Amino acid sequence: MFDKIYDVIVVGAGHAGGEAAASAANMGASTLLITMNLQNIGQMSCNPAMGGIAKGQIVREIDALGGYSGIISDDTAIQFKMLNKSKGPAMWSPRVQSDRMRFSEAWRLKLERTPNLDFYQEMVAGIVVEDSKIAGVKTSLGLTVRGKSVVLTNGTFLNGLIHIGDKQFGGGRAGERASTGITKELVDLGFETGRMKTGTPPRVDGRSLDFSKMIVQPGDVNPEKFSYSSSTKPLTKQRDCHLTYTSPQVHDMLKEGFDRSPMFNGTIESLGPRYCPSIEDKINRFADKDRHQLFVEPEGWDTVEYYINGFSTSLPEDIQFKALREVAGFENVKFFRPGYAIEYDYFPPTQLKHTLETKLVAGLFFAGQINGTTGYEEAASQGLMAGINAALLVQEKDPFILKRNEAYIGVLVDDLITKGTEEPYRMFTSRAEYRTLLRQDNADFRLTPKGFELGLASEDRLREMEIKQKKSDAFVNFFTTTSVSHEVINPILEAKKSALVSQSDKMIRSFSRPNITMDDMRKIAAVEEYINANELDTEVLQQAEIQVKYAGYIAKEKNNADKLNRLEGIKIPDNFDYSKLKSLSFEAREKLTKIKPVTVSQASRISGVSPNDISVLLVYMGR
Ligand SMILES: Cc1cc2nc3c(=O)[nH]c(=O)nc-3n(C[C@H](O)[C@H](O)[C@H](O)COP(=O)(O)OP(=O)(O)OC[C@H]3O[C@@H](n4cnc5c(N)ncnc54)[C@H](O)[C@@H]3O)c2cc1C
Repeated sequence: MFDKIYDVIVVGAGHAGGEAAASAANMGASTLLITMNLQNIGQMSCNPAMGGIAKGQIVREIDALGGYSGIISDDTAIQFKMLNKSKGPAMWSPRVQSDRMRFSEAWRLKLERTPNLDFYQEMVAGIVVEDSKIAGVKTSLGLTVRGKSVVLTNGTFLNGLIHIGDKQFGGGRAGERASTGITKELVDLGFETGRMKTGTPPRVDGRSLDFSKMIVQPGDVNPEKFSYSSSTKPLTKQRDCHLTYTSPQVHDMLKEGFDRSPMFNGTIESLGPRYCPSIEDKINRFADKDRHQLFVEPEGWDTVEYYINGFSTSLPEDIQFKALREVAGFENVKFFRPGYAIEYDYFPPTQLKHTLETKLVAGLFFAGQINGTTGYEEAASQGLMAGINAALLVQEKDPFILKRNEAYIGVLVDDLITKGTEEPYRMFTSRAEYRTLLRQDNADFRLTPKGFELGLASEDRLREMEIKQKKSDAFVNFFTTTSVSHEVINPILEAKKSALVSQSDKMIRSFSRPNITMDDMRKIAAVEEYINANELDTEVLQQAEIQVKYAGYIAKEKNNADKLNRLEGIKIPDNFDYSKLKSLSFEAREKLTKIKPVTVSQASRISGVSPNDISVLLVYMGR
């Protein structure tokens, strides 16, 4: 049935699998996407939302490189919010509520329209390895499909075990069977594996809720969007979310189920995402709090199903139901689906190279939750990187690696393969040491030229990016070179309680002050005239404002990044024998031998490797 040898076989069509298949195929690799259920491509297993703090930046980066997640998020959004707008621009993070069903459908249609991509629905039960190189996959029905590279993106499905109270059953996600076979084969090949867990809240019937008892949470008044491409448009109408709270009564009711909770009676021992705790965890850990927020989020434009964000639980379903009925607005709630927890296998990501290729089997790549991460965005970005590198490997081209100062995606991959993770890894802005450089507004400047070079971002995108850059640079130059009289600027400064000036000066001097914004500067007729004459849109205005106001911070981070890049340039030879460096600490020797960093800079980020160990390495490398 499969007589051809594919360049790339992608196993699994979640967020990682979708991006992996799209990038490999768009780069000209003959690609097969094989997944357990073709109806569930790009399924959102948990919350119907994309983006958020640090995750929104990742979606913008995927989009800038030519991936699909941003476009699909825009096309299926029902609400848009720019989070953290009151903080500095490094923290601004776009987030959308999504129409869950349309999101999945949009992924399927987008992939169907991608050239070089074949589809097949089946469970992959094993891999074919010949001479430590990947040669294909085996399906549960006994088919062998041959491929030059394979990307595994099995998500939460590997030996997935679902828990609701004291009931347990196999599954990769509610309503879908678990994936068996692959873990055992990989362990037999020498891979280390571990278990993690995650959970999800109940979904309810919106017709049974009393929204008048909740607080409305509308989207932004002027919604923006994820994709830099002009092919998507900002929302012109949006759906509201609502906010309500738990109460001591709700907590008491939940506590009645604690003895049947798999979290507390020892049934689940694996670690879950620390920053997405279940409601029972929150009650336990923050016993002094008498209420917790619950965001009531619609699952789409037309459906009556709602997602109860903040009420993730694996307590028995009767307890979930009774407790939720105590929440304001939920007195008559009807359930669509109960909440549950799931345990699954993952593979510690220190077993991977920066390309996401495994160190043990050439041509075998891992991406997404299988690497111990959590979240659609984290998964999608790894899928994109694995798909790109699988295609490049087959095409015998240099690998594509993003540095920590180039992208959150670079931080994510470097953290995973250098430090590993023992609990589900999610991205935070605090993980990025150069977050002033890695903003959501400039991902296109950082990455679209690279995406274009790879053959992923179109020429139109590159041109749009170049025009935006040219216009914002020229606008910054306008502020730097144009003067404003004190008669004109002083009323603006006075309104903002900023010190007045006594003579005419370049506009940038006032604009650089902390409390003076672009809106203030637009009160100067010459500025408004410039904007109109040059047809500057919101993105250009935002970009110019950030360039002016954060110039100092940006320059400082660039300087630090340049210093780091010098260490990045000091390569460590393959299979370097650390045992001969007796002045290294025992722990450093052990960790360096295991992780095999490729540069001194990567070595410096391994926990347990001290500055002293780095000095030893530098001396040895002749620096
Ligand atoms: C119950 C639950 C709760 C979650 N809660 C959160 C949360 O609170 N916060 C958060 O950020 N993330 C949460 N997640 C995680 C989020 O869903 C994942 O991070 C994300 O979906 C991972 O994407 P992925 O592409 O790696 O895998 P998935 O989206 O899981 O996709 C895996 C794909 O692989 C296919 N597949 C698996 N095995 C095989 C096989 N052997 N052969 C063929 N196809 C196969 C599946 O059919 C599926 O299409 C939760 C997930 C679940 C299930």
